[in-house]
Amino acid sequence: MNVKISNGNAKMGAIPSVSLPAGVTCRSDCECSKKCYAKRLERMRPSVRQAYKHNYDLLNSDPNTYWREVEASIMMSRFFRFHVSGDIPDAAYFEHMGDIARTNTHCEILCFTKKYDIVNSHINIIGKLPKNLHIIFSGWHDIEMVNPYNLPEAHVRYRDGSTTAREDAKLCGGNCTECAITDGGCWTAKHGEQVVFNEH
Ligand code: SF4
Repeated sequence: MNVKISNGNAKMGAIPSVSLPAGVTCRSDCECSKKCYAKRLERMRPSVRQAYKHNYDLLNSDPNTYWREVEASIMMSRFFRFHVSGDIPDAAYFEHMGDIARTNTHCEILCFTKKYDIVNSHINIIGKLPKNLHIIFSGWHDIEMVNPYNLPEAHVRYRDGSTTAREDAKLCGGNCTECAITDGGCWTAKHGEQVVFNEH
């Protein structure tokens, strides 16, 4: 039962990532599920769906193996991304992410999330996030982004041209590896900064 680590896709370039199924791990109060790119991909590619389900099952049945193998991949990587699909399932999971980042400072770890409460309570109780754990709050027009610690934000420019992003938001170039090697995009987004994606 090995965890399935993706070695990158067109958008991500060659950055390894671990993903979970979209939907079950995501917020249920957000309309984004109706337009979800990850869900669409899962429908088109059964092997992708299986890999995400496999990871979720492993996380639930044998969390030690899940975390040991995720950490092994992070240990060997300069960059890593959590959840090209899916979201942080719960607070304990996020604690693991923080612990792994603290012991693997050579690796820059990126994660988009709409689970603002989990991250906010973690910062409230434990304190600042490790510098190499880049948490980006990801918005959707029908949910309120509660961001008291001013973490970097990702917003969408919808097909009709509307957006919740500020005017100074940086436009996502679509290739996270390119951003990683040029020290740009989300990898170096600072408190208060925003990136904006065009709706897929
Ligand atoms: S701005 Fe760069 S790092 Fe952020 S999602 Fe877009 S391509 Fe990836």
